[in-house]
Amino acid sequence: MVPGIHRPAAVKVDLGAIRQNIENEVKHLQPKQKLFAVVKANAYGHGAVPVAKVAAEAGASGFCVAILDEALELRRAGIVKPILVLGVTSPEYAPLAAANNVSLTVPDLEWLKDAEKELRKEDLQLKIHLAIDSGMGRIGFHEDREFVAANKFLGNNKSFFVEGMFTHFASADSANSDYFNSQVKKFNHMKSLLTVKPKWIHVDNTAASIFDKKVHSDLVRFGIGIYGLNPSSNPDGPDLKADIKLKPALSFESELTQVKTIHKGDGVGYGSTYVADGDKIIGTVPVGYADGWIRKFQGFKIKVGDSYCPIVGRVCMDQFMVLLPHEMPVGTKVVLISNDSKAPNNIKAAADYVDTIHYEVACLLSDRLPRVYY
Ligand code: PLP
Repeated sequence: MVPGIHRPAAVKVDLGAIRQNIENEVKHLQPKQKLFAVVKANAYGHGAVPVAKVAAEAGASGFCVAILDEALELRRAGIVKPILVLGVTSPEYAPLAAANNVSLTVPDLEWLKDAEKELRKEDLQLKIHLAIDSGMGRIGFHEDREFVAANKFLGNNKSFFVEGMFTHFASADSANSDYFNSQVKKFNHMKSLLTVKPKWIHVDNTAASIFDKKVHSDLVRFGIGIYGLNPSSNPDGPDLKADIKLKPALSFESELTQVKTIHKGDGVGYGSTYVADGDKIIGTVPVGYADGWIRKFQGFKIKVGDSYCPIVGRVCMDQFMVLLPHEMPVGTKVVLISNDSKAPNNIKAAADYVDTIHYEVACLLSDRLPRVYY
Protein backbone atom coordinates (compact mmCIF):
# COMPACT_ATOMS: atom_id res chain seq x y z
CA MET A 1 0.00 0.00 0.00
CA VAL A 2 1.43 3.39 -0.93
CA PRO A 3 0.58 6.43 1.20
CA GLY A 4 -1.19 9.04 -0.90
CA ILE A 5 1.20 11.93 -0.63
CA HIS A 6 -0.14 13.61 -3.75
CA ARG A 7 -3.70 14.03 -2.58
CA PRO A 8 -4.93 16.32 0.15
CA ALA A 9 -5.90 13.82 2.84
CA ALA A 10 -3.92 12.95 5.95
CA VAL A 11 -4.12 11.75 9.53
CA LYS A 12 -2.50 14.37 11.75
CA VAL A 13 -0.97 13.27 15.04
CA ASP A 14 -0.15 15.67 17.86
CA LEU A 15 2.94 14.11 19.43
CA GLY A 16 2.85 16.75 22.18
CA ALA A 17 -0.56 15.39 23.24
CA ILE A 18 0.82 11.83 23.26
CA ARG A 19 3.72 12.95 25.42
CA GLN A 20 1.39 14.74 27.85
CA ASN A 21 -1.00 11.81 28.15
CA ILE A 22 1.84 9.46 29.03
CA GLU A 23 3.44 11.91 31.44
CA ASN A 24 0.06 12.37 33.15
CA GLU A 25 -0.37 8.62 33.51
CA VAL A 26 3.19 8.13 34.77
CA LYS A 27 2.46 10.65 37.55
CA HIS A 28 -0.72 8.74 38.38
CA LEU A 29 0.92 5.28 38.65
CA GLN A 30 1.00 3.41 41.95
CA PRO A 31 4.37 3.53 43.76
CA LYS A 32 6.98 1.47 41.83
CA GLN A 33 4.44 0.71 39.09
CA LYS A 34 5.74 0.93 35.50
CA LEU A 35 4.02 1.85 32.26
CA PHE A 36 4.21 -0.23 29.09
CA ALA A 37 2.90 1.68 26.08
CA VAL A 38 0.51 -0.39 23.97
CA VAL A 39 1.47 0.44 20.39
CA LYS A 40 -0.07 -2.52 18.61
CA ALA A 41 -1.96 -2.08 15.35
CA ASN A 42 0.36 0.72 14.29
CA ALA A 43 -0.24 2.48 17.60
CA TYR A 44 -4.02 2.33 17.11
CA GLY A 45 -3.53 3.91 13.69
CA HIS A 46 -1.31 6.73 14.96
CA GLY A 47 2.03 5.27 13.76
CA ALA A 48 3.95 2.77 15.91
CA VAL A 49 7.51 4.06 15.62
CA PRO A 50 6.93 7.80 16.15
CA VAL A 51 4.55 7.07 19.04
CA ALA A 52 6.94 4.56 20.64
CA LYS A 53 9.83 7.02 20.47
CA VAL A 54 7.83 9.76 22.20
CA ALA A 55 6.44 7.25 24.70
CA ALA A 56 9.97 6.15 25.65
CA GLU A 57 10.97 9.78 26.25
CA ALA A 58 7.79 10.43 28.24
CA GLY A 59 8.46 7.62 30.70
CA ALA A 60 7.28 4.32 29.17
CA SER A 61 9.42 1.45 30.48
CA GLY A 62 8.47 -0.91 27.67
CA PHE A 63 5.97 -1.68 24.94
CA CYS A 64 3.18 -4.07 24.12
CA VAL A 65 2.31 -5.13 20.60
CA ALA A 66 -0.08 -7.74 19.25
CA ILE A 67 2.12 -9.67 16.83
CA LEU A 68 5.81 -10.47 16.49
CA ASP A 69 6.20 -8.42 13.30
CA GLU A 70 5.14 -5.30 15.21
CA ALA A 71 7.85 -5.98 17.78
CA LEU A 72 10.46 -6.46 15.07
CA GLU A 73 9.42 -3.16 13.47
CA LEU A 74 10.21 -1.39 16.78
CA ARG A 75 13.56 -3.18 17.12
CA ARG A 76 14.48 -2.23 13.53
CA ALA A 77 13.70 1.37 14.46
CA GLY A 78 16.29 1.18 17.23
CA ILE A 79 13.95 0.78 20.20
CA VAL A 80 15.78 -1.19 22.88
CA LYS A 81 13.31 -1.20 25.81
CA PRO A 82 11.37 -4.40 26.63
CA ILE A 83 8.66 -5.40 24.17
CA LEU A 84 5.90 -7.91 24.93
CA VAL A 85 3.86 -9.57 22.19
CA LEU A 86 0.36 -9.86 23.68
CA GLY A 87 -1.06 -12.32 21.17
CA VAL A 88 -0.11 -15.94 20.64
CA THR A 89 2.98 -16.36 18.45
CA SER A 90 3.63 -19.69 16.78
CA PRO A 91 6.27 -21.55 18.88
CA GLU A 92 8.42 -21.95 15.75
CA TYR A 93 9.20 -18.22 16.02
CA ALA A 94 10.35 -18.43 19.65
CA PRO A 95 14.04 -18.35 18.58
CA LEU A 96 13.42 -15.28 16.40
CA ALA A 97 11.79 -13.51 19.34
CA ALA A 98 14.59 -14.55 21.69
CA ALA A 99 17.28 -13.39 19.27
CA ASN A 100 15.60 -9.97 19.15
CA ASN A 101 15.03 -9.76 22.90
CA VAL A 102 11.27 -9.80 22.43
CA SER A 103 9.07 -11.32 25.14
CA LEU A 104 6.28 -13.67 24.15
CA THR A 105 2.96 -14.58 25.73
CA VAL A 106 2.39 -18.17 26.85
CA PRO A 107 -1.20 -19.35 26.34
CA ASP A 108 -0.84 -22.94 27.57
CA LEU A 109 1.49 -25.80 28.49
CA GLU A 110 1.54 -27.25 24.97
CA TRP A 111 2.95 -23.99 23.68
CA LEU A 112 5.75 -24.08 26.25
CA LYS A 113 6.74 -27.60 25.27
CA ASP A 114 6.77 -26.78 21.56
CA ALA A 115 8.71 -23.54 22.08
CA GLU A 116 11.25 -25.32 24.27
CA LYS A 117 12.08 -27.73 21.41
CA GLU A 118 12.69 -24.81 19.06
CA LEU A 119 14.77 -22.85 21.58
CA ARG A 120 16.95 -25.84 22.38
CA LYS A 121 17.92 -26.21 18.73
CA GLU A 122 19.59 -22.80 18.91
CA ASP A 123 20.47 -22.78 22.60
CA LEU A 124 18.47 -19.61 23.20
CA GLN A 125 16.54 -18.32 26.21
CA LEU A 126 13.16 -16.65 25.71
CA LYS A 127 11.51 -14.11 28.00
CA ILE A 128 7.90 -15.14 28.60
CA HIS A 129 4.73 -13.80 30.21
CA LEU A 130 2.18 -16.36 31.40
CA ALA A 131 -1.31 -15.35 30.26
CA ILE A 132 -4.20 -16.13 32.56
CA ASP A 133 -7.70 -16.35 31.16
CA SER A 134 -9.55 -14.96 34.16
CA GLY A 135 -12.76 -14.33 32.24
CA MET A 136 -12.00 -12.74 28.90
CA GLY A 137 -12.33 -16.18 27.29
CA ARG A 138 -9.56 -15.34 24.84
CA ILE A 139 -6.09 -16.67 25.63
CA GLY A 140 -4.30 -18.01 28.66
CA PHE A 141 -4.36 -20.65 31.36
CA HIS A 142 -7.83 -21.33 32.68
CA GLU A 143 -7.50 -24.53 34.69
CA ASP A 144 -5.51 -24.90 37.90
CA ARG A 145 -4.07 -28.27 36.93
CA GLU A 146 -2.52 -27.09 33.69
CA PHE A 147 -1.14 -23.93 35.31
CA VAL A 148 0.46 -25.94 38.11
CA ALA A 149 1.98 -28.30 35.52
CA ALA A 150 3.34 -25.32 33.55
CA ASN A 151 4.98 -23.95 36.69
CA LYS A 152 6.57 -27.32 37.30
CA PHE A 153 7.77 -27.49 33.69
CA LEU A 154 9.35 -24.04 34.07
CA GLY A 155 11.20 -24.70 37.33
CA ASN A 156 14.94 -24.58 36.45
CA ASN A 157 14.13 -24.67 32.74
CA LYS A 158 16.98 -22.78 31.06
CA SER A 159 15.05 -22.18 27.84
CA PHE A 160 12.80 -19.63 29.53
CA PHE A 161 13.01 -16.56 31.73
CA VAL A 162 9.64 -15.94 33.37
CA GLU A 163 9.35 -12.20 33.04
CA GLY A 164 5.63 -11.81 33.64
CA MET A 165 2.21 -13.12 34.46
CA PHE A 166 -0.86 -11.22 33.34
CA THR A 167 -4.53 -11.16 32.60
CA HIS A 168 -6.83 -8.91 30.61
CA PHE A 169 -10.14 -7.49 31.80
CA ALA A 170 -13.29 -7.77 29.74
CA SER A 171 -15.17 -4.90 31.36
CA ALA A 172 -12.81 -2.52 33.17
CA ASP A 173 -14.44 0.28 31.16
CA SER A 174 -17.86 -0.31 32.69
CA ALA A 175 -19.46 1.30 35.76
CA ASN A 176 -20.57 -2.11 37.00
CA SER A 177 -17.58 -3.84 38.63
CA ASP A 178 -19.10 -7.28 39.31
CA TYR A 179 -17.48 -9.13 36.41
CA PHE A 180 -14.27 -7.18 36.86
CA ASN A 181 -14.14 -8.28 40.50
CA SER A 182 -14.74 -11.90 39.53
CA GLN A 183 -11.76 -11.70 37.17
CA VAL A 184 -9.57 -10.21 39.92
CA LYS A 185 -10.58 -13.07 42.19
CA LYS A 186 -9.76 -15.73 39.58
CA PHE A 187 -6.43 -14.06 38.77
CA ASN A 188 -5.47 -13.85 42.45
CA HIS A 189 -6.28 -17.52 42.82
CA MET A 190 -4.02 -18.42 39.86
CA LYS A 191 -1.33 -16.18 41.33
CA SER A 192 -1.47 -18.20 44.54
CA LEU A 193 -0.52 -21.31 42.51
CA LEU A 194 2.71 -19.78 41.20
CA THR A 195 5.90 -21.60 42.04
CA VAL A 196 8.01 -19.57 39.60
CA LYS A 197 8.48 -15.89 40.46
CA PRO A 198 7.70 -13.53 37.58
CA LYS A 199 9.37 -10.12 37.56
CA TRP A 200 6.15 -8.32 36.64
CA ILE A 201 2.57 -9.22 37.50
CA HIS A 202 0.26 -7.07 35.40
CA VAL A 203 -3.45 -6.63 34.91
CA ASP A 204 -4.29 -3.00 34.19
CA ASN A 205 -5.29 -1.64 30.83
CA THR A 206 -6.08 2.09 30.56
CA ALA A 207 -9.56 1.69 32.04
CA ALA A 208 -8.47 -0.33 35.09
CA SER A 209 -5.82 2.29 35.78
CA ILE A 210 -7.68 5.55 35.23
CA PHE A 211 -11.06 4.56 36.65
CA ASP A 212 -9.44 3.83 39.96
CA LYS A 213 -10.20 0.11 40.05
CA LYS A 214 -7.52 -0.28 42.72
CA VAL A 215 -5.94 -3.57 41.75
CA HIS A 216 -2.30 -3.91 42.60
CA SER A 217 -0.02 -4.66 39.68
CA ASP A 218 3.58 -4.01 38.71
CA LEU A 219 2.83 -2.40 35.40
CA VAL A 220 0.03 -0.78 33.46
CA ARG A 221 -0.48 -1.73 29.83
CA PHE A 222 -1.52 1.75 28.78
CA GLY A 223 -3.21 1.78 25.38
CA ILE A 224 -6.10 4.03 24.41
CA GLY A 225 -5.09 6.62 27.03
CA ILE A 226 -1.86 7.29 25.12
CA TYR A 227 -3.97 8.60 22.29
CA GLY A 228 -5.96 10.84 24.62
CA LEU A 229 -9.17 8.85 24.47
CA ASN A 230 -11.38 7.84 27.35
CA PRO A 231 -12.02 4.07 27.17
CA SER A 232 -15.39 4.33 28.91
CA SER A 233 -18.04 2.49 26.94
CA ASN A 234 -21.32 3.95 28.01
CA PRO A 235 -23.26 4.91 24.88
CA ASP A 236 -26.37 5.71 26.91
CA GLY A 237 -24.79 8.05 29.41
CA PRO A 238 -21.77 10.14 30.27
CA ASP A 239 -18.29 8.61 30.13
CA LEU A 240 -16.78 7.37 33.39
CA LYS A 241 -14.55 10.13 34.64
CA ALA A 242 -10.85 9.55 34.09
CA ASP A 243 -8.45 10.25 36.96
CA ILE A 244 -6.04 11.90 34.56
CA LYS A 245 -6.28 14.57 31.88
CA LEU A 246 -6.41 13.11 28.37
CA LYS A 247 -5.84 15.08 25.19
CA PRO A 248 -6.88 13.49 21.88
CA ALA A 249 -3.95 13.28 19.49
CA LEU A 250 -5.56 12.35 16.19
CA SER A 251 -7.34 14.45 13.60
CA PHE A 252 -8.23 13.55 10.05
CA GLU A 253 -8.21 16.27 7.45
CA SER A 254 -8.76 16.71 3.75
CA GLU A 255 -9.91 19.36 1.27
CA LEU A 256 -12.68 19.87 -1.25
CA THR A 257 -11.54 18.75 -4.69
CA GLN A 258 -14.63 19.87 -6.57
CA VAL A 259 -17.67 22.05 -5.85
CA LYS A 260 -20.75 22.18 -8.06
CA THR A 261 -24.41 23.11 -8.02
CA ILE A 262 -26.84 20.32 -8.83
CA HIS A 263 -30.50 20.78 -9.63
CA LYS A 264 -33.86 19.31 -8.69
CA GLY A 265 -33.93 15.57 -9.48
CA ASP A 266 -30.13 15.16 -9.71
CA GLY A 267 -28.79 12.24 -7.66
CA VAL A 268 -25.53 11.91 -5.71
CA GLY A 269 -23.40 8.76 -5.41
CA TYR A 270 -24.00 5.07 -6.12
CA GLY A 271 -27.67 4.14 -6.04
CA SER A 272 -28.61 7.86 -6.00
CA THR A 273 -29.62 7.62 -2.34
CA TYR A 274 -29.63 11.43 -2.24
CA VAL A 275 -31.71 13.28 -4.80
CA ALA A 276 -31.76 17.08 -4.82
CA ASP A 277 -35.15 18.67 -4.24
CA GLY A 278 -33.90 21.97 -5.67
CA ASP A 279 -30.57 23.65 -6.39
CA LYS A 280 -27.92 22.26 -4.00
CA ILE A 281 -24.22 22.90 -3.64
CA ILE A 282 -22.24 19.67 -3.43
CA GLY A 283 -18.58 19.36 -2.47
CA THR A 284 -16.44 16.32 -3.20
CA VAL A 285 -13.88 15.02 -0.68
CA PRO A 286 -11.14 12.63 -1.93
CA VAL A 287 -11.53 10.04 0.85
CA GLY A 288 -13.47 6.80 0.82
CA TYR A 289 -13.96 3.44 2.41
CA ALA A 290 -10.58 2.29 1.09
CA ASP A 291 -9.14 4.80 3.58
CA GLY A 292 -11.19 3.32 6.41
CA TRP A 293 -13.92 5.96 6.06
CA ILE A 294 -16.71 3.41 5.86
CA ARG A 295 -20.05 3.67 4.06
CA LYS A 296 -21.89 3.96 7.37
CA PHE A 297 -20.60 7.55 7.61
CA GLN A 298 -23.29 8.61 5.14
CA GLY A 299 -25.21 11.39 6.91
CA PHE A 300 -22.46 12.18 9.46
CA LYS A 301 -21.67 15.88 9.73
CA ILE A 302 -18.06 16.91 9.14
CA LYS A 303 -16.52 20.35 9.23
CA VAL A 304 -16.04 22.08 5.90
CA GLY A 305 -14.61 25.57 6.27
CA ASP A 306 -16.56 26.84 9.28
CA SER A 307 -19.71 24.76 8.72
CA TYR A 308 -20.74 21.27 9.78
CA CYS A 309 -22.06 19.60 6.64
CA PRO A 310 -23.77 16.22 6.18
CA ILE A 311 -22.27 13.55 3.95
CA VAL A 312 -24.80 12.92 1.20
CA GLY A 313 -25.03 9.86 -1.00
CA ARG A 314 -23.11 6.68 -0.37
CA VAL A 315 -19.44 6.91 0.54
CA CYS A 316 -17.49 5.57 -2.47
CA MET A 317 -14.21 3.66 -2.33
CA ASP A 318 -12.08 6.81 -2.75
CA GLN A 319 -14.42 9.81 -2.55
CA PHE A 320 -17.58 11.09 -0.92
CA MET A 321 -19.81 14.11 -1.23
CA VAL A 322 -21.05 16.73 1.25
CA LEU A 323 -23.96 19.12 1.12
CA LEU A 324 -22.59 22.67 1.45
CA PRO A 325 -24.62 25.58 2.84
CA HIS A 326 -23.08 27.97 0.28
CA GLU A 327 -20.40 28.12 -2.41
CA MET A 328 -16.93 27.31 -1.11
CA PRO A 329 -13.71 27.24 -3.12
CA VAL A 330 -11.93 24.06 -4.14
CA GLY A 331 -9.18 23.53 -1.53
CA THR A 332 -11.45 24.46 1.41
CA LYS A 333 -10.29 22.57 4.51
CA VAL A 334 -12.36 19.56 5.56
CA VAL A 335 -12.06 18.06 9.05
CA LEU A 336 -13.50 14.55 9.10
CA ILE A 337 -12.36 13.83 12.68
CA SER A 338 -11.49 16.63 15.08
CA ASN A 339 -9.03 16.27 17.94
CA ASP A 340 -11.18 18.70 19.95
CA SER A 341 -13.16 16.38 22.23
CA LYS A 342 -15.98 18.96 22.38
CA ALA A 343 -16.36 19.18 18.58
CA PRO A 344 -19.41 17.41 17.11
CA ASN A 345 -17.08 15.41 14.84
CA ASN A 346 -14.73 14.18 17.60
CA ILE A 347 -13.68 10.56 17.22
CA LYS A 348 -16.10 9.25 19.81
CA ALA A 349 -19.03 10.96 18.09
CA ALA A 350 -17.85 9.50 14.79
CA ALA A 351 -17.66 6.04 16.36
CA ASP A 352 -21.12 6.37 17.94
CA TYR A 353 -22.51 7.41 14.56
CA VAL A 354 -21.29 4.24 12.86
CA ASP A 355 -22.20 2.07 15.83
CA THR A 356 -18.74 1.17 16.96
CA ILE A 357 -15.98 2.29 19.33
CA HIS A 358 -13.30 4.92 18.75
CA TYR A 359 -10.59 2.21 18.89
CA GLU A 360 -12.03 0.77 15.70
CA VAL A 361 -12.40 4.08 13.88
CA ALA A 362 -8.73 4.92 14.54
CA CYS A 363 -7.44 1.44 13.62
CA LEU A 364 -9.40 1.37 10.38
CA LEU A 365 -7.68 4.47 8.98
CA SER A 366 -5.64 2.83 6.27
CA ASP A 367 -2.00 3.11 5.31
CA ARG A 368 -3.05 5.01 2.20
CA LEU A 369 -3.45 8.04 4.50
CA PRO A 370 -0.09 9.61 5.31
CA ARG A 371 0.49 10.30 9.00
CA VAL A 372 1.67 13.84 9.61
CA TYR A 373 3.33 14.55 12.98
CA TYR A 374 3.51 17.87 14.75
N1 PLP B 1 -3.62 -5.38 27.30
C1 PLP B 1 -4.14 -6.22 26.39
C2 PLP B 1 -3.91 -7.69 26.56
C3 PLP B 1 -4.87 -5.72 25.32
O1 PLP B 1 -5.39 -6.57 24.43
C4 PLP B 1 -5.07 -4.32 25.21
C5 PLP B 1 -5.85 -3.74 24.15
O2 PLP B 1 -6.65 -4.30 23.47
C6 PLP B 1 -4.50 -3.49 26.18
C7 PLP B 1 -3.78 -4.04 27.22
C8 PLP B 1 -4.68 -2.00 26.15
O3 PLP B 1 -6.02 -1.67 26.36
P1 PLP B 1 -6.49 -0.14 26.36
O4 PLP B 1 -6.21 0.35 24.97
O5 PLP B 1 -7.94 -0.21 26.62
O6 PLP B 1 -5.68 0.54 27.38
